[in-house]
Amino acid sequence: MAEPMISYAWHAIQWQQLAQLHEEQRLPHALLLGGAPGIGKLRFARALLATLLCEQPKGFQACGACQACQLHASGSHPDLRELTPEEGKRQIGIDQVRSLQQFTAQSAHRDGGRKLALIHPAEAMNAYTANAVLKTLEEPAGDTVLILLSHSPSQLLPTIRSRCMQMNFPLPVREQALTWLETQLGGGDSAERLLDESGGRPLAALQLFEADGLAQWQRQDEALAALVAGRKDAVALAEEWQEQDSIELLDWWLRRLSSLIRHKSAGQPMTTDIWLPFAVLPDERLHGFMDEVLSVRAKLLRGAALNKRLLLEKLLLDWQSMLRSHV
Ligand SMILES: [Zn+2]
Repeated sequence: MAEPMISYAWHAIQWQQLAQLHEEQRLPHALLLGGAPGIGKLRFARALLATLLCEQPKGFQACGACQACQLHASGSHPDLRELTPEEGKRQIGIDQVRSLQQFTAQSAHRDGGRKLALIHPAEAMNAYTANAVLKTLEEPAGDTVLILLSHSPSQLLPTIRSRCMQMNFPLPVREQALTWLETQLGGGDSAERLLDESGGRPLAALQLFEADGLAQWQRQDEALAALVAGRKDAVALAEEWQEQDSIELLDWWLRRLSSLIRHKSAGQPMTTDIWLPFAVLPDERLHGFMDEVLSVRAKLLRGAALNKRLLLEKLLLDWQSMLRSHV
C-alpha cells in the first residue's frame, strides 16, 4: 500500500480550515490557492484532491488503499483533471480548457463521486482561456470542485478571483522550513544559505540545491561585478546569458535588487558581498531598474524570444552605465 500524500506541516492551518468546511458540507466549488512559488502549494492541492476522491477517508485524509486512492496514485482517476502548460509552453492551451469543459459537463464515473479539476498555475491562462474557464465556474455541473493554484493571484482576472474562495499561503516559519530542508539534505551546513537565497521558500531551496544553483548564482554575481568593473563587456555577457533560462535569470536579478534595497533600508545582510558596492545607488534608481527588468521579463513571457540577446544586452548596458554615472 502506498503512503497517501499529505500536505507539508507548515500548511496545517489551511488544511484544518478545509477539513472544517468539508465537515460542515460547505466546501466551495471553486478554490483559489495563492502564495509564492516553491512553498508546497501543489502538494497541498494534490493531497486535497486525493482526500476528496478517497472512498474511505480517515478523518480528512486519504486512506491510500481504496480503489479511488490507487487510481489517483497511478494518475488515472477518471474523475480528476489537471491542467498545466504542456511541456515547453508557458500558457495553458484552449484545447486543454475545452476538454475540461467536456469533463465538467459529464457525470462522475465513480458512483456518487465528485469531479475534480486542478489548474496550475492559474496565471498561465490568457484572457481567452480564462474566460472559457469562467464559464465552467458559472455552471457547476453537479458535484465539481475546481482548484486554481496561483503564484500571483493579483494577476488573475478579477472575475476569476471573485468566483473562488481564496486561501493564502504565507511563507513557512523559518525554523520549520529549515528543519524540513536539513532533513531533505541529510545534514550539511548549506541549508541556511540555500533558504536565504531562496527567500525562505523551502522547496525552491531544495531545487536550488539539486540544480547546483548556488554556484550558478555566484557566477552571475561575479559576472555583473566584472561588467561594472570593466573587466567584462555587455555584448559578450548577453551572448553568454541568452543560453540560460532568461526568466530564471531575471528573477534572480530581481531578488538581488530587492535584497539590496532591503539591505539599504533595514540593514538586512546581503547573502553575497559582491553586491555591496551597488548599495551606493539611490533607491529610486534601483526601483527604476527593477521596473525595467520586470518589463523585459513580461516581454519574454509573451514570447519575444527573438530579441532575447538584445533585451539582455540593453539591460546590462543600462546597469553598467547607471553605476558608472553615479561614481
Ligand atoms: Zn482512499
